Amino acid sequence: MPSSTPSMECDAALIGAGIMSATLGVFLNELNPDWTIRIFERLDKVAGESSDTWNNAGTGHSGFCELNYCPQLKDGTVDISKAEEIAEMFEISKQFWSYLIAREYIQSPSDFINSCPHISLVFGEDNVEYLKKRFEFMQGSHLFEGILFASDRQVLQDWMPLIMEGREHSQKVAATRMEAGTDVNFGNLTRSLFRHLISQKGVDLFLQHEVRHLHQEQDGKWRIEMKNLFNQTSLTMKAKFVFIGAGGGALPLLEKSGIAEGKGLAGFPISGEFLKCTNKNTIERHFGKVYGKAAEGSPPMSVPHLDSRIVNKEKNLLFGPYAGFNTKFLKAGSYLDLPLSVRLNNIISLLGAGLNNLQLTKYLMTQVRQTPESRFRLLQDYFPNAKMEEWELTIAGQRVQVIRSDPKLGGVLEFGTEIVCHNDGTLAALLGASPGASTSVSIIIDLLNQCFKTEMNTLAWKNKLKEMIPTYGESLISNAELGRLTRKRTHQTLGLNLA
Ligand SMILES: Cc1cc2nc3c(=O)[nH]c(=O)nc-3n(C[C@H](O)[C@H](O)[C@H](O)COP(=O)(O)OP(=O)(O)OC[C@H]3O[C@@H](n4cnc5c(N)ncnc54)[C@H](O)[C@@H]3O)c2cc1C
Repeated sequence: MPSSTPSMECDAALIGAGIMSATLGVFLNELNPDWTIRIFERLDKVAGESSDTWNNAGTGHSGFCELNYCPQLKDGTVDISKAEEIAEMFEISKQFWSYLIAREYIQSPSDFINSCPHISLVFGEDNVEYLKKRFEFMQGSHLFEGILFASDRQVLQDWMPLIMEGREHSQKVAATRMEAGTDVNFGNLTRSLFRHLISQKGVDLFLQHEVRHLHQEQDGKWRIEMKNLFNQTSLTMKAKFVFIGAGGGALPLLEKSGIAEGKGLAGFPISGEFLKCTNKNTIERHFGKVYGKAAEGSPPMSVPHLDSRIVNKEKNLLFGPYAGFNTKFLKAGSYLDLPLSVRLNNIISLLGAGLNNLQLTKYLMTQVRQTPESRFRLLQDYFPNAKMEEWELTIAGQRVQVIRSDPKLGGVLEFGTEIVCHNDGTLAALLGASPGASTSVSIIIDLLNQCFKTEMNTLAWKNKLKEMIPTYGESLISNAELGRLTRKRTHQTLGLNLA
């Protein structure tokens, strides 16, 4: 990928070369083919942080298997609205990726997306009751058409032999299964998006360029100061619009931009670790993304899962995540990231969030103290006959959870993804990491709506968006027929199973 000297001014500067900048870059290029777009990445490659293949779990989050999206309410009913929202967002992502395939902007879909059943798994009588109820509610939504429920041991054994073999017969177990689930190689997808982008006129990618400062000038444009890490020279350029898509590195840059919308925000890093199976026979005996229930008081991203991954046509098996703690905001970041992010305007938020999340603090402390044996014991809860010597520890990406100031609590920790947009629409930053890459397309459309209000209302943009996302402006939750047809169409283009 190229790396020369950027010319002085551009229409849009995208900081960071992960899935979010790649997606926004393609949208901007499609909507304004004449725009000059510059992408700046501090590493010597694209998709080197959270978007890389092994730095995330590769789940195409669709609300099919993540139990934290379906809370049980006090009256005993199960609220599936969050799961529907996530399912709709993933349908939007699949439409965008289908558009890219149909246009031959990117090649073979199986390089980045593959069918993989999504399974929810619970143990114990109360949880089995809950899962059954959730299943009944989900059956009422076309977005979960084809969902199956089983508590019969033979069916469960067929679905997930590794999980059932060696398990106590007295233990109550149940699962649901969605055949339409997917495994996504976000690393390959991001690299394909950038390959397409840099082949476009007016688009340039600058690797080993670290953005250090941002300042809005009198004319409303942004002065961007950066360092070429290859030859250690300093550079400055101007942009009409800036996207801080720097993943964990977004918060420090947002602070430097000085925009009022970024004040009071703080970040808390949590790293992810997985156990990876090294035995090919074991890997072959499991197929699915099996999501369990998070332990009481632990954060949503700690939900344990035994997870098939399809990477470059090869099957793999992971279990995790385990949480780690260090003060870096990026995997290739600095231990000073967290201390340097503390400012007068966010110290109260940070302390408040710490005091109000003692359970999370306790969870993290337990996780950090984990030994290889205690990690293995958790794996055995899911895979009783696992052999310790067949599993190795891998370090995934770094998440920076957003902490927002709160008048009552001082600060609250948030687990979603947050768009922070300057009121004049010239700068936007993306913070947080969940549900993340799966919902990148909806996030970018949301960002365009916030930053390009006038353009989004023009016929030209509306028509283009409709071409890229045929259901743009319509609800896939309330319009069942449209939802069914859309999934059928995208699954055909992307070579995915329906049910
Ligand atoms: C352990 C883990 C598991 C996950 N599992 C899933 C999953 O199963 N499904 C899912 O959908 N999502 C998952 N996610 C979330 C998903 O990976 C992220 O939401 C997504 O990759 C974020 O993309 P991004 O482009 O915002 O950031 P990144 O991919 O992190 O890219 C940001 C880029 O900005 C660069 N950068 C930073 N600072 C600067 C600077 N100052 N100047 C220039 N460049 C800079 C970085 O080097 C990096 O390349 C997971 C995340 C983690 C950590």
